[in-house]
Parts: sequence; structure tokens; C-alpha cells
Amino acid sequence: MSLTTRFAPSPTGRLHKGHAFSALTAWTAAKAGGGRFILRMEDIDPTRCKPEYDAGILEDLDWLGLEWETPVRRQSEHLTDYATLIEVLDRRGLLYRCFRTRKDILDAIGDAPHGSPEAVRPGPHPVDEEAALLAEGKPFAWRLSLDRARAALGGRAWDALAFVEEGAGPAGERGLIRARPETAGDVVVARKDAGTAYHVAVTHDDALQGITHIIRGLDLFEATHIQVLIQALMGWPTPTYRHHHLITGPDGRRYAKRDGSVTLAHLRSQGVSPAALRAELGV
Ligand code: GLU
Repeated sequence: MSLTTRFAPSPTGRLHKGHAFSALTAWTAAKAGGGRFILRMEDIDPTRCKPEYDAGILEDLDWLGLEWETPVRRQSEHLTDYATLIEVLDRRGLLYRCFRTRKDILDAIGDAPHGSPEAVRPGPHPVDEEAALLAEGKPFAWRLSLDRARAALGGRAWDALAFVEEGAGPAGERGLIRARPETAGDVVVARKDAGTAYHVAVTHDDALQGITHIIRGLDLFEATHIQVLIQALMGWPTPTYRHHHLITGPDGRRYAKRDGSVTLAHLRSQGVSPAALRAELGV
């Protein structure tokens, strides 16, 4: 089977060396196997995503020498797809409304004996409380209930949730890895005011675009657990994963959008060539 992979940046800033490494790693894998390379703009957050960053990404990837299929899918143009998916999950009874603020939840975790912010599971509000909050017009988020998801799948399918890791997890995990959605808690899949959240949009599009291999940074390894659950709930195939290490700067910290000096635009303005950058990144 030939490989289909993607680079899925969020246009919230200019690309830096870490993005270049990720995009080149995915693109090289596609080229090596005669596969497909897809560029997808994950621009569902209207407050942080900007058209100039979208244009900057195209410019930077072109400079790097990458080619991608067109038209590029922009998630902001497909919000109804994600809204429909949320409706499907809701109709199946897998979601609940959560009116709690971030602070309410952190306070509750602080009070819990072994609370971990990674595993937020506030649970549904009592029916009368929910009705009152709805009547007041309070904003809420939709959360995916792990209890209901487990009941819907059945214990055996739940225990079989797994993915193949061809790269490495943070502790060097490789091969067939059991998915542990409980580490993510009852994730927010949509907000009343801001629409769909990342996990739903990304799994939807990976399935829609026939992505066979997800090649991305190690910072997204933990997200895989909940994404595998969403794939199972929707009957979508689970792609093969290749999480790659993160590129770090001289200070040992990984590059982030805040470090303006390592943007590809800056390197280009300093006369760095794509070949020199590739040699430095080793990809
Ligand atoms: N849009 C995500 C990001 O910029 C990446 C999504 C993914 O590769 O799964 O971090």
C-alpha cells in the first residue's frame, strides 16, 4: 500500500526550524515510497489564525522545495462537516454539556486526592442544573464522555484500542501500543462559542483524506490516545503513526513560534539556502 501523509500546520505564526523538520520528514517519506503528500491548514481557531500566516506557510514550504496536492484543504472552509460530526456523536449519546470554567475545573482537580490536569473528567451536570444554566444562556463546551464511549464500544473493543508507532514515543515506545484515552480525560470536542476543537477536526480530515501515515512531532504523541478512540467510535481506520523527535535550539529548548530569529523567513533573509538548512536538520 502506498503511503499518504500530511503536514497539518495551524497558521498562527510563521514556520520555524521545527516545522521545517516535520514537513521535510513527512515529504521525504512520501517521496521515498512513491506516496502522496498533503498540506492541510488547521485554521479552525478564528482568533489565532491569520491569512498572512497561511500565505507565509505556502511561501516557506515552496522555498524548502516541497510540492503538495492542490487544492489545499482549509478547515475554516469546512466547519459544517465538523458540526455534523459533533451532532452525530451527540445523537449517539456520547457527549455532554460542560458549563464549568477552566478555573472551576482546576479548582476541582486541586481538591481531588490524586487529581491530574491531564485527566479532566468533570462529568455531566445534574439535569435540573443543566436546564437552569441553559436557560440563563451560559456558554458551554461539549465533552466526549469516556464512560459512554466505553459503553458504546464495549469492553472488548475498548481494550483492543491500539496504534502502531513506527517512530518513538517519549519513553521510546514503538510497535503496537495500547491506546489509553483515559489519559486525556473527557476532552472538549466543541465549544458553544468557538465551534469544533482540534481532536475532532484532525481525525475527521485524516479519515476523509485517506491519510495512511501520520508523521508529526513527539509533542502530539499523547493526543494519539484520544484520536484513536474517535477513529474507533466513527469506524474510521487508524493510520500508522511516526512521531519524530523535536528539534531543539542551542539552549536545548525546542523551537517555538515565539523565537522570531529561527523563522524560515528570517533564515531566508539572512541568505541561508534550503540545502544548508536541510543539511543542518539532517533530513
Ligand atoms: N495542527 C496541529 C499543530 O499545528 C498539528 C496536527 C497534527 O499533526 O496532528 O500543532
